[in-house]
Amino acid sequence: MEFEKITGIEERGETVIKVKSEYKICTRCIMDTTDPEIVFDENGYCNHCRWYYANVNKIVFKGDDAEKRLNQIVEEIKANRRGEYDGIIGLSGGVDSSHAIVKTVELGLKPLAVHFDSGWNSELAVKNIENLVRKLNVDLYTFVIDWEEMRDLQKSFFYASVANADVPQDHAIFAALWKIAEEKKISYIISGSNYATECILPTEWGYDSKDSKHLKAIHKKFGSLKLKKYPTMSFFKLYIYCPYIKRIKSIPILNYMPYVKKEAMKILENEFGWRYYGGKHYESVFTRFFQGYYLPAKFGYDKRKAHLSSLIVSGQMTRDEALEEMKQNYYTEEKIREDKTFILKKLGLTEEEFAKIMSLPKKTFRDYPSNYMLQTFFNRYTHLFGRFLRSIKTNLISKSS
Ligand SMILES: [Zn+2]
Repeated sequence: MEFEKITGIEERGETVIKVKSEYKICTRCIMDTTDPEIVFDENGYCNHCRWYYANVNKIVFKGDDAEKRLNQIVEEIKANRRGEYDGIIGLSGGVDSSHAIVKTVELGLKPLAVHFDSGWNSELAVKNIENLVRKLNVDLYTFVIDWEEMRDLQKSFFYASVANADVPQDHAIFAALWKIAEEKKISYIISGSNYATECILPTEWGYDSKDSKHLKAIHKKFGSLKLKKYPTMSFFKLYIYCPYIKRIKSIPILNYMPYVKKEAMKILENEFGWRYYGGKHYESVFTRFFQGYYLPAKFGYDKRKAHLSSLIVSGQMTRDEALEEMKQNYYTEEKIREDKTFILKKLGLTEEEFAKIMSLPKKTFRDYPSNYMLQTFFNRYTHLFGRFLRSIKTNLISKSS
């Protein structure tokens, strides 16, 4: 099928892409040409929703199949318990992770909740987390980041002028979870990541926070401190050491059950005294400002489009409702000013320095070293690699017996 290339990027490496400046929005979801890499087919459907519908049966489990798989997973988790807990869950206080921990407890599992104190959590997020763990009777471990190092990293990403400037927070949360799992002999990292609410996200809008090579490259170029306490996760550790040597598995548990965000929010509000933040990932003050102001103002990227498009394709919202939702403005001028003052003060940036950051020429993650190709390859063929390792193990066992 022929795709029409619509992009604002004139040159990317050696590939020169035809430039078209006119605006276009998908006729099925609400992704549009603010994604520089979007392509449309003859029906006006974009590559994002096309990918979802082509893969939905492989990624989202329904009915008996989902129930069977979920039961198998729960039994497997219980059978492999090595320490005090069945699994570890990173609890941001947002809808997805909060719902995931409620479901995990309902399934009869004993999780350890980990709250990551990045220095940016809103008071409401802390309150929501406290309510949740108290009512669920779940142990809570708080991981406190070294603030000086975090600040140095976040400023580095701003100066690198990339759209994935939330990587320092996300990578640390992810790396800390694996580190704690290893220390506490926990075999499963249960997460609220799911296809129902976050299956669409353009690579250009938020390149993979798991890539430590990328994080270190940007920090080396723009940072001023040495990273001593900041937790990182190397490619080897992520793809080989943890899954195959330490046998730690990641379980996106919400993919094995029907997940309707509105219903989950209602239960959280009614049963756990949970309160909404006004936007996805707005539990962190930094992320609220980054997604609500920095990305749209500097790059023209509005992550709400990706989030609402995910809800459209997963049948939780109509396209008209999503377009209507886009007109709502929860993040008011006054709130933006308030957050900006707070964030600049905390990061130690003056208004002039931040204005300079906003006007720096826009870069993409591709302008800095990364494991993009390697990770893409491994993500696609990781099951074959697992099969290869298992066959070696079987051969060794049969030879020794
Ligand atoms: Zn679409």
